[in-house]
Amino acid sequence: MMRFDLITIFPDYFASFLAQGVVGRAATAGLLQVVVHNLRDYAPAPHHITDDRPFGGGEGMVMKPEPIYRCLAALLGREPGPAAEGDPTRVYLLSAQGERFDQARARRLARLKRLVLICGRYEGVDERVAENFVDDELSIGDFVLSGGELPAALVLDAVGRLIPGVLGDPQSAINESFSEASPEDLDCPHYTRPIEFHGHTVPEVLRGGNHAAIAAWRRQQAELKKQRRG
Ligand code: SAM
Repeated sequence: MMRFDLITIFPDYFASFLAQGVVGRAATAGLLQVVVHNLRDYAPAPHHITDDRPFGGGEGMVMKPEPIYRCLAALLGREPGPAAEGDPTRVYLLSAQGERFDQARARRLARLKRLVLICGRYEGVDERVAENFVDDELSIGDFVLSGGELPAALVLDAVGRLIPGVLGDPQSAINESFSEASPEDLDCPHYTRPIEFHGHTVPEVLRGGNHAAIAAWRRQQAELKKQRRG
């Protein structure tokens, strides 16, 4: 069973995400395991401080390396640092400056046994963490969010749904956009009842029961979508 470790100063952030949806249900069903770690538990009492002012001046606070190091050491049972070749555990720091997360990477990560995700906050994390104590930095896109929790939930969702058994119908992941067989392709349009809604009707071919015609129409529509997307 694949395990996800989420390291955050806002552990409650993930509660509603894990209480519902495909990945939440998979966790409840024991198809994957999600463990949320409060980074403050790894910062010294009594104040459990996880951030400090930046060297060199400037605005905002920076997350300290020590609590992250301690948390990683406890989780991994070894000195934190890049994993050895073939190690089925990987540690990523969520960062807008990281390598771009996409469906191909989601597929690669879904083959791991364990994925540890560190959520930054404030101005970010002391650079020594990215340089020395993780496998890589992961970005979910070229924009800046206020914390790594939303990116971590996104990665968990995209990876979690690829774990065998999580999607009710394994065919779903094969037919959808950016699939392994055709990573450039998009999914076709989908329709359900009612047949007519506000004057817009479901394409007739989908209602005719001619499976070859439906498959051809779907391929053509997916291609049109791709062209429109550019
Ligand atoms: N100073 C940083 C910069 O300009 O790149 C932004 C820090 S951001 C306000 C705080 C945290 O949010 C980051 O440490 C990271 O964990 C997370 N974060 C923000 N944008 C992200 C993105 N596009 N992908 C992944 N994580 C992101």
